[in-house]
Amino acid sequence: MTWSHWAISPFITGVFFILGVLTLFWVSQNWLISALNAHHIHVNEDVVNDWYGLIYMLVFVFSMQSLIVGQTDSWIFMNFQLIALTFCGYFLNIHIRYYYLYPTLLIFMLFNHSVLYWESWGHALTLMLFFTTLGFMRKRMNRWSHKIQIGSYLLTCMGFGALLWWFMKLKFTLSWGTYWQEWAYFMIFEILLYIYASMLSANSELKQNLVDFANHDALTKTENFAAYTSAINYQFQIRQKSGLELSMMMFDIDHFKQINDTYGHSAGDQILQHVTQTAQTVFEANDAHITLYRTGGEEFNVLFPGYDLDAALPIVNQLFSAINHLSVVVDQQKIQLSISIGLATLTPDDQTATEFYDRVDANLYHSKRNGRMQITAK
Ligand code: GH3
Ligand code: MG
Ligand code: MG
Repeated sequence: MTWSHWAISPFITGVFFILGVLTLFWVSQNWLISALNAHHIHVNEDVVNDWYGLIYMLVFVFSMQSLIVGQTDSWIFMNFQLIALTFCGYFLNIHIRYYYLYPTLLIFMLFNHSVLYWESWGHALTLMLFFTTLGFMRKRMNRWSHKIQIGSYLLTCMGFGALLWWFMKLKFTLSWGTYWQEWAYFMIFEILLYIYASMLSANSELKQNLVDFANHDALTKTENFAAYTSAINYQFQIRQKSGLELSMMMFDIDHFKQINDTYGHSAGDQILQHVTQTAQTVFEANDAHITLYRTGGEEFNVLFPGYDLDAALPIVNQLFSAINHLSVVVDQQKIQLSISIGLATLTPDDQTATEFYDRVDANLYHSKRNGRMQITAK
């Protein structure tokens, strides 16, 4: 096997070609999402996936067709193009409306010099129906059992594949032998696509779960110390570059050990959950960019990007009064809570993120030493 002599059947080459195209899609899509996350660009991942998937497949379809446009065998890449269509219609979680396909098909027909053939119009209409049916099945599939999902997918591909190849048989006067062979290849590609896409999506779900697990605290579901460390370092860099204000608050539940000792550890756990829910409610009501992190047992850090001390203080006061009036009922006993708070704004004197953290911590310590249930902000 050399550059000039390739002894592998086109079918085997075709299978690996399809797998390569899909793998490149997933790898590049993951890279794109990671790059956006690394730059803290908050975009809806589903929207990125949809548009990137659609553009990727369009480039794939058009660039392959450009090699054979106008030739007597301009049908030879049709199975690859049908795989791209199935991938977009069924496996991408597309939120893009199906009728966006209509102008795309017309452009493809113009590009392919096939607008004057009635068979091509029949083919295009069948493609629309195929795509719409795939989209319909994708929306319903969560309600269906695994067997029904696979069965309906295979039947839809079989039926539409047969019809689509029939139009091509008429247009290019293909023999029945070629017709059945291409249809069989199409079905094998569709089955491979199903298996491969299911494997990859299970893998990416697992990866996503691991990332969530690594950045979140299991008890309170808030972000954890690892997430805090990454966020403060990033915010610190932003401050160096753009001068954006940054305030940070730390709070700690007062006499929590005593609560644990009196009411039990599981009562303590429930209190931690109540406190985080209350804090999240206060922050969400003010600004979605304010983020709460559980950085210790009963210690929390809150980052206020874009806030100086005066801007952050009213929100800190809201949290202070919300929690200090919170009585949590655990096992029919009312438990009264209080918190102590330290607050500071990043200044040019803070050489590192840790120095800033230490100043906020010192303010919290000041609140504790001075009798607790108070705010120290300087
Ligand atoms: P201070 O007012 O000075 O903060 O006193 P404190 O008792 O709150 O502080 P201390 O650091 O002495 O005790 C913190 C306690 O928090 C000890 C530990 O058992 C408890 N704790 C830490 N994590 C958890 C948890 O996940 N669940 C429960 N129930 N308790 C926890
Ligand atoms: Mg405490
Ligand atoms: Mg503590």
